[in-house]
Amino acid sequence: MNAQILDGRAIAAKIYAGLEREMSELQKLRGKKPFLLTVQVGPTSAADLFARSQMKAASSLGIGYRLERLPAGTSQEELIGKIGQWNREAQITGMTIQFPLPQGLDARAISAAVDPLKDVEGIHPQHIGQAVFGWSRIGTCTSLAILELIQATGAQLYGKEAVIVGHSELIGKPVSLLLLDRFCTTTICHVATSDRGRLSEHVRRAEILVVAVGKAHLVRGSWIRPGAIVIDVGTNLDGGVLKGDVEFEEAVKVASFITPVPGGVGPVVVATLMRNTVEAFKLQWKK
Ligand code: NAP
Repeated sequence: MNAQILDGRAIAAKIYAGLEREMSELQKLRGKKPFLLTVQVGPTSAADLFARSQMKAASSLGIGYRLERLPAGTSQEELIGKIGQWNREAQITGMTIQFPLPQGLDARAISAAVDPLKDVEGIHPQHIGQAVFGWSRIGTCTSLAILELIQATGAQLYGKEAVIVGHSELIGKPVSLLLLDRFCTTTICHVATSDRGRLSEHVRRAEILVVAVGKAHLVRGSWIRPGAIVIDVGTNLDGGVLKGDVEFEEAVKVASFITPVPGGVGPVVVATLMRNTVEAFKLQWKK
């Protein structure tokens, strides 16, 4: 039997319904609204697409929105200087920097330059540190989206074997903490796991599998444990076709739930970014 497809657009729609109610209450109470700034350095078509989705979501929720495009040659100092200005701009209540950044820019230093109260991407060191304690109010958008998708299956997480492929600071590490906090037995695989030829062995154990690498069809369908929940975060343009990191056509035959690419993780990430934007606005109000 084929897996059930986890429809990211439907899950995002539920998040938006909750946010619409919250936005109308915030308007009544505070007479002010959140304002999101997206910063894009250099031209990348994937980032353009993501920014368009953000703009559409923000405008339908009544969140203010601006996209700042900086040239690919922007230096580290220039970018950090600009971020300082946007930190001080009162109208801006949330800021997100599109990754990946062009070579030569230090993503960690740039993430740390954003005012943590305005960091709606959830990757300021303060938010990452809070995530370790399990009390972060602004988690990383992609890890929160992955958790939403897993929870949408209705599966109990307690004691489950969770395998995460990819250990990036944006996705792999934070999602592993979220699953660990829910008492999954969590394994993180990375490039050295593959280099030792052990990736398939770990993937075969996974009851919950999250793959966030950026290599089309790295995970073969034949490796998937029957009944596994498969969350494919990868987005790879392969011969003009968007593909995930998992060999979908084979994996769908054995998994219990699987995300498609596109239409799985992506729409939920935009929704969790909007939720973080509203959350950051509320935190600033309390300050
Ligand atoms: P990243 O920073 O490049 O991280 C990729 C990770 O994969 C690294 O931990 C890397 O390990 C690991 N890796 C590389 N080759 C591997 C291999 N052969 N076997 C096992 N692990 C390997 O990328 P990211 O920001 O986490 O993004 C991952 C993917 O998700 C990309 O395709 C990106 O476009 C996509 N993405 C999608 C969404 C969405 O909304 N759908 C959002 C964000 C990102 P090393 O660092 O040790 O090399």
